[in-house]
Amino acid sequence: LSLSLNGSIYRNTTIHHSAKHTSFIHLTTLHLPSLSSPNQIAMALQQGENRVVVNVNMMKLEKLLCMKGGQGESSYANNSKAQALHARSVVHILEETLDLVHLQPPPPPHHHQSAVFQVVDLGCSSGNNTVDTVEAIIKHMIKRYRAAGLDLPEFAAFFSDLPSNDFNTLFQLLPSDGGGVAGVEYYSAGVAGSFYKRLFPARSIDFFHSAFSLHWLSQVPERVMDKRQSAYNRGRVFIHGAKEATVAAYKQQFQADLGAFLRARSVEMKSGGTMFVVCLGRTSPDPTDQGGAGLLFGTHFQDAWNHLVQQGLVSSEKRDNFNIPIYAPTSQEFKDVVEANGSFHINKLEVFKGGSPLVVSRPDDAAEVGRALAISCRSVAGVLVDAHIGEELSEQLFLRVEERATCHAKELLENLQFFHVVASLSLA
Ligand code: SAH
Repeated sequence: LSLSLNGSIYRNTTIHHSAKHTSFIHLTTLHLPSLSSPNQIAMALQQGENRVVVNVNMMKLEKLLCMKGGQGESSYANNSKAQALHARSVVHILEETLDLVHLQPPPPPHHHQSAVFQVVDLGCSSGNNTVDTVEAIIKHMIKRYRAAGLDLPEFAAFFSDLPSNDFNTLFQLLPSDGGGVAGVEYYSAGVAGSFYKRLFPARSIDFFHSAFSLHWLSQVPERVMDKRQSAYNRGRVFIHGAKEATVAAYKQQFQADLGAFLRARSVEMKSGGTMFVVCLGRTSPDPTDQGGAGLLFGTHFQDAWNHLVQQGLVSSEKRDNFNIPIYAPTSQEFKDVVEANGSFHINKLEVFKGGSPLVVSRPDDAAEVGRALAISCRSVAGVLVDAHIGEELSEQLFLRVEERATCHAKELLENLQFFHVVASLSLA
């Protein structure tokens, strides 16, 4: 077990090509192949507790992190309506950013070249949100090319996320038989890798889009998991309400990560390209108040962990070694990093109120609200929790989240609000 976790527990993706009107690269992700079932790995994780805690923490987040795959009840695909709604409220900024992309004149005749407009969705996850967004972007660009009286370029869309993302579900949602956008077909491909590194050839991308992803850090800072350090996050699973030293370590990680993201994109972007980013943000200048993310991971989720510890189901050390790797910045913190990086000009940078992550049909039904909160929490953090304590204990944890959220349903509906930082950037 020790070996299988220290090595890669995700086998490399296999690539199939299939060409029809559009050509797709399907990435097949095989989960935990070295142990044959999720239950097996859960049991193994529980047995070798201490050894596994160390190994899971050492395992790079980028090999492990993904939203819950498939199309089941707690899958991301089934729990991302709120993100779609929140994205709709900033679509005007997305369109303004697209209006700044330089249109490419057709290449001179006999040059054996054709113009290609390449768009990327970074942190695409699986589900309809990414497909709808990419198609809206292509549609907007078609409109612009037609309005300018220019020949249309060919369109290529790259769906990019970490290797353990459920690309299979995503590719099944794409038009496979010549659907296209406004009668125009587009080529699509999945690109697996961390957006904190280079993902594309230099000067190859016209437009980068990233929604609700950049608040995920590349890792939990090492000193937050080191008992000897003042930044050790004792007693907590998130930075909401944590010690200053812990929060400072997260903030530094955010700054380093966003800087690395911008460096990579500044090389990959074609001159005349632009980028639209929206991620979780906060309005309080105090980073120990993580706003909506703080409520989601710092209250009932935290209490549920504590309950498992009180009941002796999880050791306190094991809880303390679990940390949600999310940082919600203020718009000023975001701006400071973009300016320090210097590669991008800020066209627009704002914080906006996205609203609640809970989409419920009967808001006065406490049980439905409680369930919605637990499922929403599980669709984004479930994979990390499963890897840390195994599926059975994870089930116990989310049951406790649901119980607590049901008791506080009214308060949650009133107070659980997400704010987002939204940015429109062009190459400086
Ligand atoms: N953009 C989608 C999904 C957001 S969920 C939407 O709007 O609904 C956040 C996604 O970011 C997840 O799929 C997660 O795997 C991805 N992500 C987090 N860190 C990442 C990284 N370093 N590189 C690439 N993707 C990352």
